[in-house]
Formats: sequence, C-alpha cells, structure tokens
Amino acid sequence: MSTLSADYRRHPTTQVRIGPVTVGSDHPVTIQSMTNTDTADDIRTVVQVAELARAGSELVRITVNTEEAAAAVPKIREKLDAMGLDVPLVGDFHFNGHKLLTKYPECAEALAKLRINPGNVGRGSKRDTQFAQMIEIACRYDKPIRIGVNWGSLDQELLARMMDENAQNSEPLTADAVNQEALIQSALGSAARAEEIGLPHDRIIISCKVSGVQPLIRVYTELARRCDYPLHLGLTEAGMGVKGIVSSTAALSVLLQQGIGDTIRISLTPEPGASRTQEVIVAQEILQSLDVRRFAPAVVACPGCGRTSSDYFQHLAQDIQTYIRHKMPEWAEQYPGVEDMTVAVMGCVVNGPGESKHANIGISLPGTGEQPVAPVYEDGEKTVTLKGDQIAEEFQAMVERYIERTYGQAKAS
Ligand code: SF4
Repeated sequence: MSTLSADYRRHPTTQVRIGPVTVGSDHPVTIQSMTNTDTADDIRTVVQVAELARAGSELVRITVNTEEAAAAVPKIREKLDAMGLDVPLVGDFHFNGHKLLTKYPECAEALAKLRINPGNVGRGSKRDTQFAQMIEIACRYDKPIRIGVNWGSLDQELLARMMDENAQNSEPLTADAVNQEALIQSALGSAARAEEIGLPHDRIIISCKVSGVQPLIRVYTELARRCDYPLHLGLTEAGMGVKGIVSSTAALSVLLQQGIGDTIRISLTPEPGASRTQEVIVAQEILQSLDVRRFAPAVVACPGCGRTSSDYFQHLAQDIQTYIRHKMPEWAEQYPGVEDMTVAVMGCVVNGPGESKHANIGISLPGTGEQPVAPVYEDGEKTVTLKGDQIAEEFQAMVERYIERTYGQAKAS
C-alpha cells in the first residue's frame, strides 16, 4: 500500500503507537472499524474481527460493556493471535469502564487502546474520579487512549455551563456554535486532564463526532488548529446505504484534502444481513479516490448509455472489480506496486480506446451496431482484439499476465 499524492500535506500531529500500528504524523491514514457482535460471545466476535481485518481494517474496536464482555476480551485476543492476526483491538468503554478495567486487568492488557467518552464516564462528583481511574489504568498498562467525544453524549454539565456563560455575553453565539465549542472543549480539556494525571502526550488521540457534514468539518478544522493530537475522523450515525456513504465521503473528503485526519472510521448502518466489511471498503475507496492511499488497482468503467444495448460490459466491470478485490491479499505479497495500476472497462468506441490508452490495461467493448470485437490496450498500445464468447475470461487472463509481467519484475529486481 502506498501514499501517492506528492502535494498532499498532512496536518502535523504526534505519533501514537497502538500495538503494531502507529497513527499520526506522516504515517498512513489508518482505517478502523467496529464490530456489532456481543463481545461476550468470543467466537462470533473473533469471526467478525477477522473478517474486518482481512478486508483491510487496521484497528478494530469492540464494545466492552459488561463483565462477561471484559472477561471475553483476552480470549478474543488469544484466538486472533492463534490465527496469525495481529490487528490491534480497541476497547470501547462507557459508564462502567473504570470498574471493568479494575476487576479484569487481563482485559486492559489484551487491548491495544482504550476509547473513553468524557460524556459517559460518570455523573456529577463521580465523573472526575472515574475518569482519573481510567487514565491511571491506561498509564499502568502503557495503553494509548482515544478521547472520543460524541454530540449524542456530550458532557451536559459542561454544555449547560457554556450555554449560561454565552447567554451573558453582549454578542452571544448561536446554540449550534456553543454546542460545537463544547465538543472541542470537552475533548481538549479531557486530554489536558489525562496528561496532568500522567498519561504522556503521545498516548492520546482525539475525536469529536457529530452527524452533520458541515458541523463536522467546522469542529475538526478548529481541533486541528488548536492541537497536535492525532485526529480520528468519522461522521457519527452516518446512516444506511447511499446516504451514509455520501455523507461520510463528503465530510471526510473536505477534511482529508486539508491534511486533517490520521485515522478514519465510516459509521455505516449495514443493511440487514449485509457484511460489516462494507464500512472498511468505503473507507479504502475514500482514501484511494483522494490519492491519499492506494489499496488495490482502480477499475475505471463508463456508466453506459444508449450505445450499450446489453449489460455485458457492466458484468465485465463488476467481475473485474470483484476479481481484483479477491486476489488483492495475494497480489499485495507477490506484486509490490500493483495497487497503483488502473484497469479500464469501457462500453463502446466513443471514449473506450481513449480511456483504455490512459489505463495500464483497458478494454473497449463493442457498443450497439459496432463490430463484435473488443480492442485491448496495454500501456497505451493496442495489443490484441478479442472476439467471440470468451471475451471476459480472456481479458481477465490478460490482466493477470500484465500484473505478473509488470509487478513480478518489481519484486525480482
Ligand atoms: S463510452 Fe460509449 S457506452 Fe460508455 S458512456 Fe461513453 S458513449 Fe456510452
């Protein structure tokens, strides 16, 4: 996997080690995800963590909400290690984290990072003590933390105080502006408190998640201005399907383009029965579209129009995309640099040859009324014209040969 764009500059942040992964500074923007299994069910959780990790999730968060879940965490870690999966596990704690981590120290040891939500750490006089307990545990086990503020669970005492102060001002801010400032102050105030308790500066990551695109951009732009903690980006409760994907992409693209964001999570609501890995694929596609990172060869395909009377080329584009995703774990080992290549699958001669010439390898299928032949271009030159019923299979074999020839040599040299 490589970072591409030469003029892309990251906002400078500290580096935070999370097990074998380092987040922040110039380290690649890391993809993370979260399970939706009951953590107490260690088998199902291991299966889902493994699925997410194999899809490309570089950190996986699991909720630790009960004693049974805390007791299951070391078993989950052991099973993943036995499978050869070293993906770091992040424990998500709310309300009772201080108790669970105290009673189950092996849970604290098995986790690579603790997520602490300052709005859900305790109420009233207990809040500060319980927060301090969590930080002391992080110090004792040398674990980084994420101060994860969420506007659905913002510290209400802080918000009420800031609203009162704002009301006294001669030029009061809007309620939304105060809300956004409260998110930032909750995160930065909690991080400062964690450092006072003894947690090193480079053991802290910050997030301030909201569900609106514009507020998210405003909050993170301001956070980046005010601190050098690595920032975990994500639009919370992004929603389902196209809406969730588009909103997340819109928000994260604006921030990533400014170099803001060191690790990302796409909070999609999966369709019933759909794989949880979709959020990982969307995260990869966002980073790849922006040329922030590359994960797999890009498939360029035209949308089709009245010139394509069948869905043949749609199937071919989909088959090639699926084939690439399926083969990528193997190719990543065998063919360094393969993720930088582009494959074009075009519907007719109008844009087909031109787009194919720009790709590493491209095919221009016959449109309606065109001769039933499909010219293939490799590195800008027409090398072959495919005909007959086996065009898809032959093109797939050509892609495989191109990769072997071009990137196999890169490994050998
Ligand atoms: S390349 Fe051909 S089939 Fe594809 S959108 Fe353009 S004109 Fe239509």
